[in-house]
Amino acid sequence: MAHVVVLGAGLSGALMAYEMKDQLRAEDRLTVITKDPVYHFVPSNPWVAVSWRTREAVQVDLAPVFKRKGIEFRPVAAAKVVASENAVELVDGSRVSYDYLVVATGPDLAFDEIPGLGPDGHTQSICHVDHAQKASVAFEEFCKKPGPIVVGAVQGASCFGPAYEFAMILDTELRRRKIRDKVPMTFVTAEPYVGHLGLDGVGDTKGLLESEFRDRHIKWMTSCKLQKVEPGKMTVEEIGDDGQAKGTKELPFGFAMMLPAFRGVAPVRGIEGLSNPRGFTVVDKHQRNPKFGNVFAVGVCVAIAPVAPTPVPCGVPKTGFMIESMVTATAKNIGQLLRGAQPTHEATWNAVCLADFGDSGVAFVAQPQIPPRNVNWASEGKWVHHAKVAFEKYFLRKMRKGTSETLYEKAFLELLGINKLKAAS
Ligand SMILES: Cc1cc2nc3c(=O)[nH]c(=O)nc-3n(C[C@H](O)[C@H](O)[C@H](O)COP(=O)(O)OP(=O)(O)OC[C@H]3O[C@@H](n4cnc5c(N)ncnc54)[C@H](O)[C@@H]3O)c2cc1C
Repeated sequence: MAHVVVLGAGLSGALMAYEMKDQLRAEDRLTVITKDPVYHFVPSNPWVAVSWRTREAVQVDLAPVFKRKGIEFRPVAAAKVVASENAVELVDGSRVSYDYLVVATGPDLAFDEIPGLGPDGHTQSICHVDHAQKASVAFEEFCKKPGPIVVGAVQGASCFGPAYEFAMILDTELRRRKIRDKVPMTFVTAEPYVGHLGLDGVGDTKGLLESEFRDRHIKWMTSCKLQKVEPGKMTVEEIGDDGQAKGTKELPFGFAMMLPAFRGVAPVRGIEGLSNPRGFTVVDKHQRNPKFGNVFAVGVCVAIAPVAPTPVPCGVPKTGFMIESMVTATAKNIGQLLRGAQPTHEATWNAVCLADFGDSGVAFVAQPQIPPRNVNWASEGKWVHHAKVAFEKYFLRKMRKGTSETLYEKAFLELLGINKLKAAS
C-alpha cells in the first residue's frame, strides 16, 4: 500500500488529485492537503474585479467532490515539508506521512519586495479572488471620481497575460460606463517590449497588443522597475537595452493594479535540493525532484529558467494547459513507480492561452514554449472572448464533476495537434 499526498488544491492540485486517483492500485491511498477548501477559477478574477462575475459563480466546494471520488481531504495549511522524513507538518500541529508527495502550492505573491505594492498597500491585485473582490469595491469608488489608471506587471513577474487582459477589460468597462474619456491609462511592464509575455513573444503578440493599445488609447512603458508606491502615485525607473537606468518617472493614479513577482510558498522554501533560491520546486523532465525522488511538483510552484536575459528580469508564465501537461505526466509517472517501473512520461509544457479583452481577445499557441518553435501562432478577434467564457463554464463543470479531461476535449486537442505528453523516443 502506498500513500500519495497532493499539497495544494488549485488548478494543478485539484486536477492532479483527479488524474492520480485513476493511476492508483486498489490498495493505495490519496490525500489532498490544502489551505483553502474552496477552489476558485483564477482566470475569472479580472471579471470579478469589474463585477462581471460574483465570487460564488467561479468557485467549487471541493469536499463533496473529493468524498465522492474516495479522495481523503485535509483542508488545513501546511507549515513545513520535511522531505528528509517523508512528511508534511500542518499548521494545526499534526503531521501527514507520505510515500509520494506532489507539490502543487502555486505562487507566493511577493508584494513585500516593493514598498507600497499590493492590496495591503496602495495597488490592487487580481491574483486571488479575495483581492479581485477588494479591487471591485475600489473600482466602483474610482468610477464615482475618475482619474488616471495604471496597470501592469513589476520586475521579476512571470504572469503578464492577466495584466494585458485587465487593462483591456477596464477599457471596455469604462467605455460601457461612458467615462473612458475621463481616464488616461498607462500600461507599465518589466517586459522589454509589449507582447513579450515572458516568452519572447508568440506569433505577432507584439504587433497585436501594441495595435490594441493604440486603438484603445492606452499608453505603455516597457523595461520598467517599480521602485515604490505611495497613495495615488507610483515611482517607476526605466531601464535601457544596455541595462543602465534611463531615469525615473512619477505616475499619478486613481486606480492601479500591478501584478507582483512570484516565489515559492514558505513550507517548501529553503529546503536544500528541493527548492531553488526563490523557493520554486526543482524538477527533472519527469516532474520529479532530483534529490528527493518521491517528490514531484506541478503548476506555478515549479522552477523554470527564463527564456532569455532581459534588461529587467521577466519570468516564464506557467499557463493552464502547460500545467495540465505537467499533471498528466506526473500522474502517469507515479503510477509507473507504484508498479515497480521507472517514470518515462514527459510533459510538453506547451503554452496555449486565451487572453480576454471583454469584447474581443488574443489567443496564442507556443509549441514548445521556448523559441524557435514548431508552432508559433497568435490571433485576435471577438471569438476569443466567447471562447474564454465557454471555457470558464466547461472548466468549472469539470472541477465540480471531478474529471480532468473529457473524451471530447481529448479528441479536440488531438485534432489541433496539441499534446500534453511528448511522444516516447
Ligand atoms: C489573475 C490570473 C489569471 C490567469 N489567467 C489564466 C488564463 O486565462 N489562462 C491560463 O492558462 N492561465 C492563467 N493563469 C495562470 C495559471 O493558470 C493560474 O495561476 C493557476 O491558478 C495556477 O495553478 P496552480 O495550481 O499552480 O496555483 P493555484 O491555482 O494558485 O493553487 C495553489 C493551491 O495551493 C494552496 N496552498 C498554498 N499554500 C499552501 C499551504 N501552505 N498549504 C496548503 N496549501 C497551500 C492554495 O490554497 C491553492 O489551493 C492566470 C493567473 C493569474 C494570477
